[in-house]
Amino acid sequence: MRALFLDNEVRLRRDYPDPRPVSGESLIKVEMAGICGTDLELARGYMSYRGIPGHEFVGRVIESGRAEVIGRRVVGEINAACGRCEWCDRGLGRHCPNRTVLGILGRDGAFAEHLTLPDENLLPVPDSIPNESAVFCEPLAAAYEIFEQTHIQPTESIAILGDGRLGSLIAMALKAERLPSVIAGHNRSRLDRIAALGLKVSLESELKPGFDLVIDATGRAEGFNRALELVRPRGRVILKSTAAASAPLNPAPAVINEITIIGSRCGCFGPALEALASGRVDPRPLISGIYPLEDGIAAIRAATNRSNFKVLLRAA
Ligand SMILES: [Zn+2]
Ligand SMILES: [Zn+2]
Repeated sequence: MRALFLDNEVRLRRDYPDPRPVSGESLIKVEMAGICGTDLELARGYMSYRGIPGHEFVGRVIESGRAEVIGRRVVGEINAACGRCEWCDRGLGRHCPNRTVLGILGRDGAFAEHLTLPDENLLPVPDSIPNESAVFCEPLAAAYEIFEQTHIQPTESIAILGDGRLGSLIAMALKAERLPSVIAGHNRSRLDRIAALGLKVSLESELKPGFDLVIDATGRAEGFNRALELVRPRGRVILKSTAAASAPLNPAPAVINEITIIGSRCGCFGPALEALASGRVDPRPLISGIYPLEDGIAAIRAATNRSNFKVLLRAA
């Protein structure tokens, strides 16, 4: 099959072996895949991943142990847990230490014609959701994860740091749940584009400290420290940027101001799919381009261009 393969760099391969599902796994024909910041990080060497990247997809099931999904369009939870460890027993398979993660850790991903995932990871996509929306289910689930981790009152003031793909989706999810927020960034034209979606924006330098909740979706090392500056005493900071790992951390303000820090990663797909189906979230205005898989290298280059938002690959 054709696939984008990451070794030291990403290359298009036309001779990549078709994946063979093992027992308990389904074979899926990818229809559309989304390129996200994590993929760009992987291409720069994050996690030392070697294989096919891509974890945001919508596809059609060809083979499965679940007869009811065969032939259906699906999205899929990206963590493939072992099902046998203590964390899996507690229903926390997304934290299973033995897990593989689609296109990120030990499992080929979605920038290809086919992929495999455990049968139970698949969620059928209602016919009312077009591929261009369904492909956002994974990052939107990551936005909805926030509601699983902390309860937000409608009266709380919320700032989102980061005027990129994830920050915009988080703001859309908050708005869909009737929680107003302000997205802050450094780039006027990006902010203008986000404002055109009906979301409130601000230059980051113009934010005043005192937010009840600050969400760091900058994808940059300095986002965490900036979030600590902007949150009120006893407020909460939610970290969505794995890039925070390389930041010179100064936890003193978090202690002095008694800040609750919440790390946040992947989420359940159900609430995200429901938000897409109901139309409460329509992420399609975030699409900057749709490329055929054949032009995947150009697509990745386009995704690295800061003037673009979401770049999609069409595999079929
Ligand atoms: Zn992603
Ligand atoms: Zn496990």
